Amino acid sequence: MKPTIYDLTYEQLEAWMLENGEKKFRAQQIWNWLYIQQVSEFSQMNNISKVLLEKLANHFILSPLTLKVMQASSDGTRKYLFTLNDGTLIETVLMPHRYGNSVCVTTQVGCNIGCSFCASGTLKKQRDLTAGEIMAQVMLVQQDLNTLESDEPQRVSHIVIMGIGEPFDNYDNFMDFIWIVNHPKGLAIGARHITVSTSGIVPKIRQFAQEGIQVNLAISLHAPNDELRSSIMKINNAYPIPELMDAVREYIQVTNRRITFEYIMMKGVNDQIIHARQLVKLVRGMNAYINLIPFNAVDEHGYQRSTKEDVSAFFDYLKKEKIQVMVRREFGHDIDAACGQLRAKKLTEEN
Ligand code: SAH
Ligand code: SF4
Repeated sequence: MKPTIYDLTYEQLEAWMLENGEKKFRAQQIWNWLYIQQVSEFSQMNNISKVLLEKLANHFILSPLTLKVMQASSDGTRKYLFTLNDGTLIETVLMPHRYGNSVCVTTQVGCNIGCSFCASGTLKKQRDLTAGEIMAQVMLVQQDLNTLESDEPQRVSHIVIMGIGEPFDNYDNFMDFIWIVNHPKGLAIGARHITVSTSGIVPKIRQFAQEGIQVNLAISLHAPNDELRSSIMKINNAYPIPELMDAVREYIQVTNRRITFEYIMMKGVNDQIIHARQLVKLVRGMNAYINLIPFNAVDEHGYQRSTKEDVSAFFDYLKKEKIQVMVRREFGHDIDAACGQLRAKKLTEEN
C-alpha cells in the first residue's frame, strides 16, 4: 500500500525531491498546496508539472482516510469516525472554543495500556498510526471547516493528542506529526497550542523533555496513591507514582514548563477528601496544574461520574491548599463524547 504524502516532514519531502530528480523548492510548492490551499486531490495542484504529479501519484496517496460517520453536537462539537486504508476505524473530534478550534487526534488503532475506565483500552491495539495518518485527521477536519458557513474563515488553531491510543507508545510517528503540524511552511500550529497526554511512560517523558519544543504535556494521573492507581491503570505497575513524579520533575526542570495532571472524577473511587489530601501532598511545590475531568460513562465498566457536590468539595479543598486546579468543560454531551466511544459502539454494532 502506498504511503500518504502527509507522512513526510518538510525536510523529508525536500530530500525526496532531490532523490527523484526534482528541485528542492518543489517541496515548498507542494506544501503550499497541501497545507495552505488545502487541496484534496493531487490533480488540483495546477502549477505543478504533469511529470512531477505523476511521480507523486506513483509514490503516494493524498488522504489515507475516508469519512464513515460524522456526528454534530448542538454545542458545535463535531465527531468524525474515519476508515483507514486497511479498513480499521479511528475517531477525531473538533471542539470549538472561544479562543479557537481544537482538534483531538487519535494516534493508534486501539490501545494496549488497558486502563479500566477507558473505551479505547477495551479494544487491543491493532497498530500504530503513521505521522501522516495523524496529520490527515487534522486536514480532513480543516477541509470540513472550510465548507461551513461562517463570517470569517475557520481554521484549526489547537491540537490535543488525546484521542484513541497512547502517543508515547508510538513515539517516533507522533513526534514526526508534531514537526509536520508545527512547521512554519505548513499549518504552523504553535507548539504552545499543542497538548499531548500520556498515561505515564517514564522513559518517554524523559526523552520528550529533550526535544526542545514548547508543546504542553499532560499526565493521566487519576489516582493519588500506587495501590489505587495500579488498580485502575496497569501501567502503574511498570512506572509507579514515585518514578513518574521524578520524571515529571525532571521534565519541569529541563523545559521550564508547567505540567498538567489529569484526574478523572469517578464516584466513590478517587473522589473523596482523603484522595484530595494525598493529591495535594504529591504535587505540592511543583509547577503543576490539576485538571478535574468529569467521567464519561463507558457502558461495560460500571464506573459512575462523581456527584457535583463531591467534585466541588474536591475542587475547593485543592484551591484552599493553593493548588492550581480547574474542572474541564465538557463537549458534545449529546453525542458519544468520550474518545473511543463512537468507535467502540460501531465495532459492537458490526459484530
Ligand atoms: N493515552 C493517553 C492519551 C489518550 S486518553 C492518556 O491516557 O493520557 C486522553 C484522556 O482521556 C486521558 O486523560 C484519559 O485518562 C481520559 N479518559 C479515558 N477514558 C475516559 C472516560 N471514560 N472519561 C473521561 N476521560 C477519560
Ligand atoms: Fe490507552 Fe489512554 Fe485509554 Fe489508558 S486512558 S487505555 S492509555 S487511551
